[in-house]
Amino acid sequence: MKKSVLILFSVLLSVFVLLPSENAEAAKKDEELINLIIDGENTVYDGTVAGFIFNDKKINIKKTPTYIFDDTAYINIKKVIKKAIPDAKYFYNKSIGRIKITRGDCSIIFYTDNMIVYKNGKATYNRNIPKCIEQDGNGGNYYLPGRLVFETLGYSYVWDDENKVSKVTETAATGKAYELYKYGIVLDNKVTRDIDNYHGELNIKLPDSVTSEDVVISDNIYKNEIYISIKGDHKKFFDNLSFNDDCENCVVQIREEYHPEDDITLLKIITQTDSEGLCLLHKDLISDENIKLIFDRAGDLYDKIVILDAGHGANDPGTQNFGIDEKDCNLIITKLIGRIIEKSGIKVFYTRYDDTLIALRDRAYLGGRLDADMFVSIHHNANNSPEKNGTSVYYSLLNYNATLENTLTSRIMAETMQNDLIEKIQTNDMKVLTTDFTVTKYNNVPSVLVELSFLSNPEECYRSITDEFRNAASESIAGSILKLYNQG
Ligand SMILES: [Zn+2]
Repeated sequence: MKKSVLILFSVLLSVFVLLPSENAEAAKKDEELINLIIDGENTVYDGTVAGFIFNDKKINIKKTPTYIFDDTAYINIKKVIKKAIPDAKYFYNKSIGRIKITRGDCSIIFYTDNMIVYKNGKATYNRNIPKCIEQDGNGGNYYLPGRLVFETLGYSYVWDDENKVSKVTETAATGKAYELYKYGIVLDNKVTRDIDNYHGELNIKLPDSVTSEDVVISDNIYKNEIYISIKGDHKKFFDNLSFNDDCENCVVQIREEYHPEDDITLLKIITQTDSEGLCLLHKDLISDENIKLIFDRAGDLYDKIVILDAGHGANDPGTQNFGIDEKDCNLIITKLIGRIIEKSGIKVFYTRYDDTLIALRDRAYLGGRLDADMFVSIHHNANNSPEKNGTSVYYSLLNYNATLENTLTSRIMAETMQNDLIEKIQTNDMKVLTTDFTVTKYNNVPSVLVELSFLSNPEECYRSITDEFRNAASESIAGSILKLYNQG
């Protein structure tokens, strides 16, 4: 070999060696141990530290890189939007723990403590809840599952495993927002129990062209309907399909509809309500071939059930004072109460978990249909006189019904909550009052309506929106609920 060729060869060689050495460094970085505080807990992270590419341009996110949990790339969405994506918007409402990201008509909403994700208005169930991650003491940032966010917003998302990078690209199509699931509640699938006792099972075969990705299931417990939405027009397929008939005690009827505006086929499954209560969707198992729905009664699934009702919602803001809507205050406290009592093994059903309006009768009937132990409605008060202030808990005399098995009455509930609240939040004691609010009157489980404070009183309104007040009030009500269980 000539010397010049050798030199050229060694130059080429060094170029090739240099390139991989950069990769080797990246690989080495993969194995580095990183101290992170994840959701308040010190954690040593030894996984992949990944990058981000938007429209083929590498974005510098070195200080808050992407981390991988459960094979999912978690991205600091706020940061990448700020750096690179002008037509997406990021909103975070700390007081109710809500993260909302929008792009044109599309939106995705996460709750920091919950597995329900609203994809373009539809409630869906998602295992990858937001993670608050803190590195180098720079304060925590919420990290979200990247693919879920970007695909919902109509971007294309590709994970490049070789280079450890998320590639997001703008596409012409911006997904269409539709709200079929406005009142739907997706039940948590966390319950696992012996299958011997189930009330019924429904198996639905899927068309060959459909995969599990095309299917969304939501349980509309107010209407006794379960909605299965499937991408594309499959009405004929389902018209000709016979369903298994060993679920008669759970399913009354199945209807097929095609919605051309959204290009989805909707299966409406009307479920049974009988003396045992409402038939709930207990578990759904979706594969590319079929959907299996397992039905059960809430009373058989859970030992302790409480219904929490955040007053008002959507077009009904409740009382409005000093720029504050009562509906928002009610929802914040309601979620705080739920969070506390769920830790004690109580199953909480919320009449609403978002800015939605549910009919008063539907709220009230839920108590009996779900075989609940208690129903608590959260409100804030108002009066023409700005001086008026204080706390009162209401119950309905028509709902004053103790039974032999259940000694808890609405009056006992009201008195316990009133006394505990006055002691804890130190407001003016307006005592327990009786009146026939729809949600307490038409309830057939012990039920109360709490009017925490007067938002029409400037000082009390100001106090009512502080974290201190909200925490104290919710701790007090949660404490009362636990106390009532222990007495029973
Ligand atoms: Zn109210």
